Amino acid sequence: MKPSSTTEKKTRSGKQPLDVDAVRGDFPVLHQRIYDDKPLAYLDNAATSQKPSQVIRALVEYYEEYNSNVHRALHFMGDKATARYEESRASTARFINAPGVRNIVFTRGTTESINLVAYSWGRKFVGEGDEIIVTGMEHHSNLVPWQILAAEKNAKIRMASIREDGTLDMDEFRGMLSRRTRIVAVTHMSNVLGTINPVREIASEARSAGACILVDGAQSVPHFPVDVQDLDCDFMAFSSHKMCGPTGAGVLYAREELLEEMSPFLSGGEMISKVRDDHSTWAELPYKFEAGTPNIADVIGMAAAMEYLESVGLEEIHRHEVELTHHAIRRLEEIPGLKVFGRAPERGGAISFEVDGIHPHDLSQYVDREGVAIRAGHLCAQPLMRRLGVSAVSRASLYLYNRPEEIEQLAEAILKAGKFFSHGS
Ligand code: PMP
Repeated sequence: MKPSSTTEKKTRSGKQPLDVDAVRGDFPVLHQRIYDDKPLAYLDNAATSQKPSQVIRALVEYYEEYNSNVHRALHFMGDKATARYEESRASTARFINAPGVRNIVFTRGTTESINLVAYSWGRKFVGEGDEIIVTGMEHHSNLVPWQILAAEKNAKIRMASIREDGTLDMDEFRGMLSRRTRIVAVTHMSNVLGTINPVREIASEARSAGACILVDGAQSVPHFPVDVQDLDCDFMAFSSHKMCGPTGAGVLYAREELLEEMSPFLSGGEMISKVRDDHSTWAELPYKFEAGTPNIADVIGMAAAMEYLESVGLEEIHRHEVELTHHAIRRLEEIPGLKVFGRAPERGGAISFEVDGIHPHDLSQYVDREGVAIRAGHLCAQPLMRRLGVSAVSRASLYLYNRPEEIEQLAEAILKAGKFFSHGS
């Protein structure tokens, strides 16, 4: 994939602020006007991100030029598809600084990656009386698979608390670690509070207690540089669609020793070495965990997305988002009756809030008519909603292409909603 000339310039120039206009030029979908000619302000990036032309082109190229199955085709297009698919694995390893391609398993996304670990690692290494530590800010995808495992094995889920400011209670977390802890499953960045958790520290504490650590990177890998070796985590899960890539593709990073010890998750074609009448042996890593025809096009598209993000610069993206987040919080808090949840000093651009007297669903529908896309609901984090004392919140979530003008459009729309709902409808 070729980066656009504008983004190429930025990479070379190092610490320049991100050229948001140039970035926006890469995203065709952002330029439309909706309803009565309102500019679209897309602020639902924690749910899914938009795709640049570079990614769309990679998908079109695959289907127009070399659509073929991988690994077993003995022809030109099959060779090309296999080469691109495997190059995507190398790009992914580089993107998160994994030691090599054997550590990279392609999945359908974060949810499937975590299920793979809960199933293949969990069923082998978690037993009766063992403990699994999660936090009170986990997405259901990093909680429910552990609950199912715990119920099956008679193991126990322990949930570390969130403090008033939206940070993890590290003292309580440390106190929970014991010889019974098998795994700590923690989100790198909360999709509700924006909190960035101290994963390196958590991993080191977990390791000292003899436990494994899984990091849910769904909201971190797309937004700032993530180095799995530096974090020293055992597993890292993330999704393509939240990082400018296509839906239906994602990654499980895992330490090689663990993948070697784990049993297959799904089975059938592609993941075997020898198949006898009554038993089989498994393919080498990582293919042991990639049963059936993989999602070839979308994995190639995901690698194009990673290359795109690298060409813009992940440091630059993070800096831009942090700045815009601080601006957004300041602006939103000027609105009477609006309360933002989460005050963590280390945070990214997922901003959840409530507005007195307006249900989050009503608010999101109202601002939608003003051209602003935000999310409302429990955000797949019901335990956290209970702790916040609400059943739902509204959430604006930012990415590399968002601008202060869109924050203003949101703020104006909320102010208008305030007047509309206070006068009754
Ligand atoms: N974890 C977190 C923190 C998330 O924000 C999400 C998506 N909202 C997921 C897991 C699940 O990701 P996916 O639906 O792509 O599997």
